[in-house]
Formats: sequence, structure tokens, C-alpha cells
Amino acid sequence: MKWKNRGHEYDDMYQKISEKNRFYLFGAGDYGKQFMRIFKSEIQIKGYIDSDISRHGNMIDGKMCNSLEDISLGENDGIIVTMSQAARVSALEQLRALEYRKNTDYFMIEEFLSVYHVYKNDKVYFSSISFLPSTACNLNCRYCLNFNPFAKQFYVREWKELVQDIDLFFSCVDHIMLFHVSGGEPMLYKYTADLLEYIDKNYGDRIDTLRTVTNGTIVPKEEILQKLSMCDVELTVDDYRNKVPQFNTQFEELIRKLEEYHIKYYINKADSWIDLAPERTDYTSWTEDKLITHRDNCNQSWQELRGGKIYSCNYAAYASVAGIAGEQDLEEIYDLSDFSSDKKKELVEFRLGYTTKGYTGFCRKCRGFTSENSEGVEPAVQLTQRI
Ligand code: SF4
Repeated sequence: MKWKNRGHEYDDMYQKISEKNRFYLFGAGDYGKQFMRIFKSEIQIKGYIDSDISRHGNMIDGKMCNSLEDISLGENDGIIVTMSQAARVSALEQLRALEYRKNTDYFMIEEFLSVYHVYKNDKVYFSSISFLPSTACNLNCRYCLNFNPFAKQFYVREWKELVQDIDLFFSCVDHIMLFHVSGGEPMLYKYTADLLEYIDKNYGDRIDTLRTVTNGTIVPKEEILQKLSMCDVELTVDDYRNKVPQFNTQFEELIRKLEEYHIKYYINKADSWIDLAPERTDYTSWTEDKLITHRDNCNQSWQELRGGKIYSCNYAAYASVAGIAGEQDLEEIYDLSDFSSDKKKELVEFRLGYTTKGYTGFCRKCRGFTSENSEGVEPAVQLTQRI
């Protein structure tokens, strides 16, 4: 994907969107419901589509949920795929099998959200951003997507830098669906609660969901829990109990504390992870075109905010921080200090994956979230040493 038509890459897509009278949301889970909350007064939403048969025939948020086969899509109807990157793989296969066309018949949630708002309302609306204050972690997961087992040391940021990044980000971005403070293990980082408090207090009205995560092995101190309870923040608690049973007591105590402090949380028990396999991947002989296709096929859409810049693939950025990808070249990065109000569409284009080069340096060492890398690996497998 090369960035040839800056500021106009989505003109055709917006034209198609504006020709639609009503939309179905494909995915009645968390993403679908969030999308519904944001858009219910902006566009006509006809109903949900879901692959889970237990949802078929049920009303969800006042809308009927059906299977894809059960809906008949009129010329002025569109489908918005409202699922996470991992969950949408089979949905996209179903849509293609029925010969629906991307950006004509169906649209991805991230693109729809940002393109609609920047064209219709002149607002920069991001679907998500990842913000990594520290990679420090008490576990040593073999397939860590921070690539901690490859790193010589943890990467830990200073408070001043965090605040500068947050303020700069919100001087450019009007609204965001999901602001994700990631790790490392955020409950080990000394400023996590202060950071969430700062973001919520100053920019909470421009964030649909402020979320952080924990590996479920640490019970935060009372003062941290107190601060979290005062913020509109969600905590994803990863459940690794079958891999690190020595922390089961802490896990149970953590849940008890979250309940006690009325902190919103969600237990995440993933069946499998993905291995980007940088130590055994070598695409250095690939042509530019092949690398661009590799990037295009990669379902990875997370980007990272760091040092006043947005990194076009957060895993490439993490690999760089871990010391296994070299410095990232400027084409992979959007410098927010260069932003001005006449560049809103450009910023949105970058956030949606446009870069001049069309891939990252790390794409040469990374298997990506592609159909060729669909084999999962066991979550939270522990190593006793670095790779
Ligand atoms: S192939 Fe890897 S480095 Fe390239 S975009 Fe996908 S996840 Fe990022």
C-alpha cells in the first residue's frame, strides 16, 4: 500500500458510504455494541449479523440479530464489520464467499469510524491507540508481543514524557474509541494509576473506552485501587492461571479487590496467541511489492503513540524497542508535531495504514497476522531465560 494521493485516499470510500441508507453491524460483541453507542444517532442501523447461532433471532440493543445468509442486502445497504482483528478473519471469508466487495458492500469498523467523521464532521476520530509506558513485567512469556524475551533490558518511560505525549495526541485527535494503556505489566509501573487519572480527568470526555490490562498476578496497593475506582477505566484481567498457578491466590485476591472497589474489569482467557516468530523469519529477499502485499494481508491495525509520534505498526515499534528491528525509518512514523488542521485526512490515512513505503522494516522479519500465520500458540508459556 503506497501513499500516493495524500488527503484523498478515502474519497471513493466516503462516496460509497454516503450512498448507503442503512447498515448492518457484522459482530454483536463488544465492538458492535460500542459502534452502536457511537453511531446510533448518526446513521440508520438496521440490525446485527453474527456468526454465533445462539444470538440469531434475538434482539440486541433493540436490533434484530441474524446470520449473514439470512439478510438480503439491498443496493443502498452496507455492512460494517464490527469485530476485533482476530475475530474477523472468518467473517471476511464469509463476506468474500458471497461476493460482497470491500469498501463498496462492506466496511471495516476502523475505516468507517475515521473516514465518516473526518469527511462528514471534519473531526479526527481514531478507533484505537496503544500507549506503552513500560515493558517491565514479572512474567517471561515465550510469545510476548513486546518481545521481552529478546530484549536486554526493560524499557521504562518518565512521567514528563507521558504527559507530553498525551497532550500532543489530544491536540491532534478529537475523539478516540479505545485508548489502551498497555504493558509490560501496567500494575508494576509506578505511574499507571496517575497516568489513567490524568487521561480520564483531562480527556475522558473524548474517549469512549479507556482501558488497561493486567496479567492477573499482582494485587495493586489500596491507593492504586482507590485511584482506579475514581476513573472511568476498564481493566482487562488476563487469566493465565493454568500456566502460572503459583499466582492463583493473587488472581483471586485481585478479583475480590476489583469487586470491592467497583472497578470495571473483564476476565480474558485467550485460547491461543500468535507467534510473529522474528527469530525464524527472513523475508529480506522479498521484493517491495511482495512486502507491501504482506503488510496489506496482515490484519494488524494497532498503532503506538510514543515520543510525539505514531508508529504505523505497534509490533514493529515494540520490536524496535526490544532491539530486534533496528531504528524505524521515518516513513513508518507520523510526527504529530507536524500536524495542522489542514492535515486531518492525512493523519486519518496514516492511522488507517497508509505509509509512503507501504510496509515496515520489521515486516521483513515478521510472519504477521496473515492467513499464512493462522496457527495459534499456547498463551503465557513461561521461559526461564532470554531467547
Ligand atoms: S507483518 Fe508484522 S511488522 Fe508487518 S504490519 Fe504485520 S504485525 Fe506489523
